[in-house]
Amino acid sequence: MVKKVRVVVIGSGPAGLTAALYTARAQLSTVVITGMQVGGQIATTHDVDNFPGFPDGIEGPELTARMQAQAERFGAQFDYDLVTEVDFTSGSPFRVKTQSREYLADSVVVTIGASPRKLNVPGEVEFTGRGVSYCATCDGWFFRNKDIIVVGGGDSALQEAIFLTRFASSVTIVHRRDTLRASTALQHRAFANDKIGFIYNTVIDEILGSSETGAVRAVRLRNVKTGEVSEKPIDGVFIFIGYDPNSKVFNGQLSTDAAGYVIVDNHMRTNVEGVFAGGEIHDDIFRQAITAAGQGCAAALMAINWLGERADRLQVIEDEQRDAPIASSKKTTEAV
Ligand SMILES: Cc1cc2nc3c(=O)[nH]c(=O)nc-3n(C[C@H](O)[C@H](O)[C@H](O)COP(=O)(O)OP(=O)(O)OC[C@H]3O[C@@H](n4cnc5c(N)ncnc54)[C@H](O)[C@@H]3O)c2cc1C
Repeated sequence: MVKKVRVVVIGSGPAGLTAALYTARAQLSTVVITGMQVGGQIATTHDVDNFPGFPDGIEGPELTARMQAQAERFGAQFDYDLVTEVDFTSGSPFRVKTQSREYLADSVVVTIGASPRKLNVPGEVEFTGRGVSYCATCDGWFFRNKDIIVVGGGDSALQEAIFLTRFASSVTIVHRRDTLRASTALQHRAFANDKIGFIYNTVIDEILGSSETGAVRAVRLRNVKTGEVSEKPIDGVFIFIGYDPNSKVFNGQLSTDAAGYVIVDNHMRTNVEGVFAGGEIHDDIFRQAITAAGQGCAAALMAINWLGERADRLQVIEDEQRDAPIASSKKTTEAV
């Protein structure tokens, strides 16, 4: 069965949850298709200290559970499923398929985010938020006077390593090649920084934790040229080996840049009229929960305006099942 709604929001990170709050509060039937990571990336971290309104900080899952509850208060529905296919080719209404159902939506807000590339080594998942981080702006402050490793050799690795020297006692850049890929200017800045050291031709094979603190205590390193294995005591591991925007499902339908980020204009409009995007699916610069939320809000406001201007012409009418629970829902807000 096809469910008709005014707005489908794809993704349930800060951008999607904020978008849903705005469209639902504008009395537009709204379904958020959450994806696998309900609450998005921020829900995977323990301490969020830089989201305004929480002077004592807040845990990531609690922040997004509150955002979801706020959107639900105005009628947004949540479908705990993955978008597998979209058809934007004929314009509005748009077809959005999940693993278990299909939607016909007057407008779509794409907030499907991006994923930091992982090392895929033992200990990485276990200690994410407990010493393993993918975000210097978010977590640098927790590593004041600590010794940390930065993994990577590109611009972002060096930029973040330099930034992290504001907090850490020492920053060791671990790079799998014998030369860095970062710009020469950044390399000079990093070489000139007394707190930064380098280990070349080396990969991390395992991130080791302490049974006492439950946090990172060391890494197991391997020299890729000699095969030599060593253990290095460390307090934190920051991984900057790139991001992958989750845009594959829109291949050929939404314009993206070479890296796969969805291109929007300054009104969050994609190349498809009626489809808007916000958050990390298009923003590869700021990468913060608050900027994602702001962009989700902007995308939703544009969708609301766009729907308002075309109210008489759009085919999808308010769904008679607006208040009915979505059959595939697996989770409640409390469980997030
Ligand atoms: C470990 C960690 C800690 C961080 N700490 C902070 C911090 O302290 N402060 C801060 O400001 N920022 C922090 N960030 C960054 C912040 O989490 C992101 O900037 C923010 O979450 C981006 O929000 P978004 O909504 O654009 O995308 P995301 O959070 O990436 O959300 C994308 C959403 O899309 C969904 N999705 C993916 N594929 C599909 C699909 N096929 N169908 C449907 N849905 C799909 C996912 O399930 C997810 O819900 C942190 C990031 C990480 C990884």
